[in-house]
Amino acid sequence: MADTFDLVILGSGPGGYVAAIRASQLGLKVAIVERERLGGICLNWGCIPTKALLRTSEIYHYMQNAESYGLKADNVGFDLAKVVDRSRKVAGQLNAGVKGLMKKNKVTVVEGVGTVTAKGKLSVKQGDKTVELEAKNIIVATGARARDLPFAKADGERIWTYRHAMVPTPSWMATLFFFISPLTPAFSWPATLRLRSTTLARSNDGFSFDRPYCAACIM
Ligand SMILES: Cc1cc2nc3c(=O)[nH]c(=O)nc-3n(C[C@H](O)[C@H](O)[C@H](O)COP(=O)(O)OP(=O)(O)OC[C@H]3O[C@@H](n4cnc5c(N)ncnc54)[C@H](O)[C@@H]3O)c2cc1C
Repeated sequence: MADTFDLVILGSGPGGYVAAIRASQLGLKVAIVERERLGGICLNWGCIPTKALLRTSEIYHYMQNAESYGLKADNVGFDLAKVVDRSRKVAGQLNAGVKGLMKKNKVTVVEGVGTVTAKGKLSVKQGDKTVELEAKNIIVATGARARDLPFAKADGERIWTYRHAMVPTPSWMATLFFFISPLTPAFSWPATLRLRSTTLARSNDGFSFDRPYCAACIM
């Protein structure tokens, strides 16, 4: 038998989880369906990890210009794996925060890929299993995704989406970054860390963008 709710929300990004909390606070029995990680793109692959990376870039920039602050910082460098690890941990903390918020606000979390099958009905595919839900109201908050250009698919090597940009490796060849709206900081943080086309540049003669945001970076 299907579980019944006043409201089922498909997608747990900022659009979904905030609505879930508010609806529950207003007395509705609420479930939220998520196929990946609670918090959606913003918390896991967008706003939050980019800001963590940009903060590293900012501190690195300050350290490189320490003298102008009357400070000394010799042999300033970076460890890309640790930079990325910090960003992933910050995203992880917020993901855990949303889990906590769902629990605190008595929102039922249903993990899996949801499909609206009929008016007031949803199926949630969880591997081999399918869970049926019924709802008086449904909110579709499934967000947006990067879309491949037919002639140039994002392969994580030469062409990246924002997801690739969040977890880069030092040996890339970043030729063309392209992505969908919003045109964001995802691609500006490595530029700030001065990347060359094939390897990370650790010297001052590396390639650098001064623009804080770049819509398409050809390096
Ligand atoms: C790199 C980057 C940086 C950004 N920086 C900022 C910023 O600084 N400030 C800002 O305001 N915005 C920023 N954004 C935009 C922000 O991430 C989005 O506006 C926001 O995430 C949209 O929220 P949403 O809830 O509509 O969708 P999403 O966050 O995309 O969430 C949708 C959720 O639905 C889930 N889902 C989709 N289909 C299904 C299904 N069938 N079943 C179950 N679950 C499903 C997805 O897994 C996802 O978790 C950034 C985006 C990117 C890519």
